[in-house]
Amino acid sequence: MQIHDKQFSLFIPADEIHARIAELGASLTLRYSTRNPVFIVVLNGAFVFAADLLRNFNGECELYFTRIRSYAGTTSGDIKDFTGFDESLANRHVIFIEDIIDTGKTIYYLLAEIKKYRPASITTVALLQKTIMRSFETSADHIGFEIPDEFVVGYGLDYDGLGRNLKDIWKVI
Ligand code: 5GP
Ligand code: MG
Repeated sequence: MQIHDKQFSLFIPADEIHARIAELGASLTLRYSTRNPVFIVVLNGAFVFAADLLRNFNGECELYFTRIRSYAGTTSGDIKDFTGFDESLANRHVIFIEDIIDTGKTIYYLLAEIKKYRPASITTVALLQKTIMRSFETSADHIGFEIPDEFVVGYGLDYDGLGRNLKDIWKVI
């Protein structure tokens, strides 16, 4: 499969993704079902994951969105376009939904920002986390799949704008 100049091969099929998300939803339900947590979706990449994860959470919950960009093409760069948090998060249980943790820079930055609002608790869920040495010592609390340090697309993740609509996750060859 080709996107722009790169070839991709099938990496994680949709049915495996869905099975894993059901497990993540069940463990979040165990911990948060009576706490009315606030899920914060980190746009753009996490929108597909968030839609499936939320429907696997049983209990009252709210959903907010924030936007941040740090990737250009296939490499991690500076934090850009952060829209901030405009809702009152004081004393709330916050659950960040991220598509993928690479260097950890994005989640490290978001965690520092959210702490200013004094939430009751903060946890992070990432569909994917790359197994690399991180300069930012940040790992998601709940991880769908640990993956090697390779560029992936699909299921919400893009390569320079394309590929978000793919049902499966693909990795660059
Ligand atoms: P970090 O700040 O942890 O280096 O990178 C996190 C962000 O970079 C993710 O939220 C995601 O938007 C983007 N990113 C990191 N690795 C990949 C990848 O393999 N594929 C795609 N499409 N985006 C990635
Ligand atoms: Mg992202």
